[in-house]
Amino acid sequence: MKAEQSTAKIIDGKAVARAMRDKQRARVEALMAKGVTPGLAVVLVGDNPASALYVSNKVKACEAVGIKSISHRHPATITNEELLVLIGKLNADPNVHGILVQLPLPPHIDMAKVLETIAPEKDVDGFHLYNVGALVVGRQIFPPCTPYGVMNLLEHENIPIEGRNVVVVGASNIVGKPMALMLMARDATVAICHAKTRDLAQFTILADILVVAAGVPKLILPQMVKTGAVVIDVGINRLPNGKVVGDVDFEGVSKKASYITPVPGGVGPMTIAMLLENTIQSAERTAEGH
Ligand code: NAD
Repeated sequence: MKAEQSTAKIIDGKAVARAMRDKQRARVEALMAKGVTPGLAVVLVGDNPASALYVSNKVKACEAVGIKSISHRHPATITNEELLVLIGKLNADPNVHGILVQLPLPPHIDMAKVLETIAPEKDVDGFHLYNVGALVVGRQIFPPCTPYGVMNLLEHENIPIEGRNVVVVGASNIVGKPMALMLMARDATVAICHAKTRDLAQFTILADILVVAAGVPKLILPQMVKTGAVVIDVGINRLPNGKVVGDVDFEGVSKKASYITPVPGGVGPMTIAMLLENTIQSAERTAEGH
């Protein structure tokens, strides 16, 4: 018997990120012609293998478009004070247009203080309170990379947002909350669900656009999704067998949704693309004298 075909269009985040990279390379060349080489400082503390992998992927992506990335690797024994001094130096360095501190940080480090010490005009992750506040009032200076990537995927597919019911599952500071704010800024009606939400399905079933960022494999099953919904799966989960999956039951939900992002190859590649975007934008602002 022939296997049932999926009906949803699969949004190819890798291809969208690749197309963005070509444009980004051209923008970097234009900046270099003006004597500005975009520079991203990446700070890695400790030896968490997942963080090291993320950092090396970011460094490679920078190199691919011509951004100069400067890695600062420090043992987990670095003190709060030493880390703040390093950030102060990067803030003052005119060759650095973006500063990224890879999270999580060791428990003895005051993460909030570290993020607040990064100069807001170099905060390419968008985690500084100033940039978070900008997002709340509908200004996007450095939109956080993962939700910014989701917005770009929706735009790329010409998916209308205004007036639509959007449900965001997950309310973290780095994904769920900024995601909801960005969608609200585009006049969607947004509901945010989280681990304490009672009867998740009664919310998700109403969504025209469902964004899931919970970190729970198979959290979203087909019966929780409205027929024709756009489903964006931000989750990245490694199963005991080594397979990487999202939060959505891809096989089942792709038969009901109109669009769906795969994991891997959906939102993930966009996150890095948007980091490059923010860094280039920062360098462009410098070149324009802002
Ligand atoms: P987090 O742990 O900080 O937050 C998870 C959120 O999901 C919380 O608000 C929590 O209340 C909610 N949640 C947990 N279980 C739930 C449940 N059963 N029902 C409803 N809500 C639930 O995680 P995060 O940093 O926001 O990341 C979320 C997921 O997205 C993770 O899988 C992470 O790996 C992934 N992620 C992917 C990218 C990417 O580039 N694709 C970037 C960042 C995070």
